[in-house]
Amino acid sequence: MTLFSGPVFEMAAEQFAAVADHLSIPEDERPRLLLPKRAIAVSVPIHKDDGRTHVFQGYRVQHHLTLGPTKGGTRFSPDLNIGEVAALAIWMSWKCALAGLPYGGAKGGVACDPLTLSRRELEAVTRRYMQEMIPFVGPQIDVMAPDMGTNEQTMAWFMDTYSMHQGNAVAEIVTGKPVAMGGTLGRSEATGRGVAFLVAEALKCCQLSASQCTAIVQGFGNVGRSTALILSNEMGLRVTGISDHTAAFYDAKGLPISQMAAYATQHGVLKGWSTEAETDPDTFLTLPCDVLVPAAVERVITGKNAAQLRCRILAEGANGPTTPEADRILDQRSNDLFIVPDILCNSGGVIVSYFEWVQDLQRLFWTEQEVRDRLQTILKTTFNAVINRAKVDQVSHRVAATAIGIERVRMGKQWRGLFP
Ligand code: NAD
Repeated sequence: MTLFSGPVFEMAAEQFAAVADHLSIPEDERPRLLLPKRAIAVSVPIHKDDGRTHVFQGYRVQHHLTLGPTKGGTRFSPDLNIGEVAALAIWMSWKCALAGLPYGGAKGGVACDPLTLSRRELEAVTRRYMQEMIPFVGPQIDVMAPDMGTNEQTMAWFMDTYSMHQGNAVAEIVTGKPVAMGGTLGRSEATGRGVAFLVAEALKCCQLSASQCTAIVQGFGNVGRSTALILSNEMGLRVTGISDHTAAFYDAKGLPISQMAAYATQHGVLKGWSTEAETDPDTFLTLPCDVLVPAAVERVITGKNAAQLRCRILAEGANGPTTPEADRILDQRSNDLFIVPDILCNSGGVIVSYFEWVQDLQRLFWTEQEVRDRLQTILKTTFNAVINRAKVDQVSHRVAATAIGIERVRMGKQWRGLFP
């Protein structure tokens, strides 16, 4: 019996159980690895623009503190719950360990719809949430970052709120900040750049040439937009499908990604960009393509549509886009479907966040080229480790990636022992 429940938490627990079986981890050791170290729930009251007071619910889950501070994004979304936050924190732990970063996983956020809040209300939610979290976070305790519904402005308000409390500028309390206040070059596009780099590695493994390939990207926010732009403008893939929560578009001849990005920046959403290319969002993921990038929300590839996927490479930009039921179907398709699992595929974000934290602590900043080179070095090493492990253990890429992550956390816990 735990505090955490819901489909996303159950998914993380089910994935952990499968990998724990694979690694023959004894039953009595499992809860110590799976269950979060700390879970914080706070009330976030603000004055609305119409003068009323409204209380939002906020959360932060810190999964483990064995290898360093916890690290993870902050999500502002209407249905956020503590089970979902815990699952995302757990995935962050395996992701950080897989990439060799000295962090445990964390995640947090506020159950609110940022699109319905004014800028002043959003600032109030952001600052009050950080104020409530001050006793539980710190550059050596827990470092926040952006996630769905938050961005560099949110991080700037977090940093300012924490710094006002401390009495000095503490840039290293959050990552994903604007460059002007201690952010790193290359962070805003880091997750998408990482996804695109790993797509290139997967194309090599499948002996496919980028210029002959098509791609479909679900989600047109931080991750989806930068992935689509790099795939199309730098790697030469034909991006035939793009969607966000308001509309989905498909054109077999290829979509003008830069133009769509400019439209979304101006209008906030894609709805209205075109009537001709609009397509049914419900069948969007099963349209034909070489590379499919879910980069929006979790649990979009399910038992219902997994068998219908018509891609050659599934590059999981989002966290948890594929349910365990879908995985069982996709496992049967390992000959024709190459999966880059989420904890590998979207790890570019936390890797460059780690670079930002290191630069802030050292007060020594790198060039964008240094950031990109170091990112690629880590991603390539990690990608090769996952592919090799999958071959040796004869398991899926997801099980291989998660097994490496869990093993490293487990080893840290074994060396440190159980206090007291
Ligand atoms: P974001 O808020 O910037 O963008 C989310 C996008 O998804 C928006 O375009 C939104 O319209 C779209 N969307 C929402 N629901 C949708 C639906 N049902 N169908 C189609 N599109 C939908 O968020 P983001 O930061 O790009 O995060 C996207 C995913 O990537 C999340 O799973 C997040 O946890 C993960 N992720 C983000 C980062 C990062 O650095 N931002 C890093 C690693 C993983």
